[in-house]
Amino acid sequence: MVLEIHEVEAKTIISSTKVPSADFVINPYTGCQFACSYCFASFMGRFVGESISNWGNYVYVKTNAVDLFEKEVHRLLKKKPHPRLSISTVTDPYQGVERKYRLTRGVLEALVRHKYRGRVSILTKSPAVMDDVSLLQELENAEVGLSIATTDDVLSRKLDMMAPLASARLDVLRRLNEAGIRTYVFVGPLLPHMHLRPYLIDQLFSEIKGAGTSEIKVEFLNMPRHVRARLNGYLMDEPVEIQEVYSKSQNADYRKILEDQIRTSLDAHGLKLRFDEIVHHAEAQSLVED
Ligand code: SF4
Repeated sequence: MVLEIHEVEAKTIISSTKVPSADFVINPYTGCQFACSYCFASFMGRFVGESISNWGNYVYVKTNAVDLFEKEVHRLLKKKPHPRLSISTVTDPYQGVERKYRLTRGVLEALVRHKYRGRVSILTKSPAVMDDVSLLQELENAEVGLSIATTDDVLSRKLDMMAPLASARLDVLRRLNEAGIRTYVFVGPLLPHMHLRPYLIDQLFSEIKGAGTSEIKVEFLNMPRHVRARLNGYLMDEPVEIQEVYSKSQNADYRKILEDQIRTSLDAHGLKLRFDEIVHHAEAQSLVED
């Protein structure tokens, strides 16, 4: 499938948010070429007339994102002293198109010019974040999250489709830590495979700690209808035991067992759980509903 790239002009670029870790979010792209099977953000297609099934095949590039950001951050700083910003929440800010358009870099450059003091948090799966290490070092309060759900590259390739392999992300984590950048790992979603094979949790946490990161954010698998539609495509070719554990994954009993496994492993590896909770979205639905 050839990636479709659409250049568009956005009306605004800084949006307020209810996510607990930020006051405002910036998403320079709509769509994500990493095409993860479990991607919650795939609903974003509805804002640009794309179907859920086409997620991963298109990116809408907000070509005026940096100009807009420059204007909007100026206004924002007049109202609020350096609020917490998150880049990006519904796309990957360092997917392949970033190397051509450099919108994420443009936003960081603007923040450096403004001597931004508030928390600037970036979440990515891409080694391309290393291109901007010097900008991140200049910011007073920047952090980078690497999204890593498993260290099993075979599983990662099946579920994360076009994203850089987990092993490459762990290497980025190590290099960011060596560069003095504050880091965390987003273990999301918690793959139901871990329920069947708890050693996968220990492997992942051991690698995270070994890369020099001590804080993780963890989220249960979120399965509203649009995520189920994509996951069903992946599950069709999986063994029955995997299909069954995905079906169970929205139950409270399942979450309790997995949470106990996670907390035991966190203690064993000396990792801190962000917010001291495993995030669960109540709107998640079971694969077997409907
Ligand atoms: S990298 Fe993030 S935004 Fe992109 S497809 Fe994967 S989960 Fe979705």
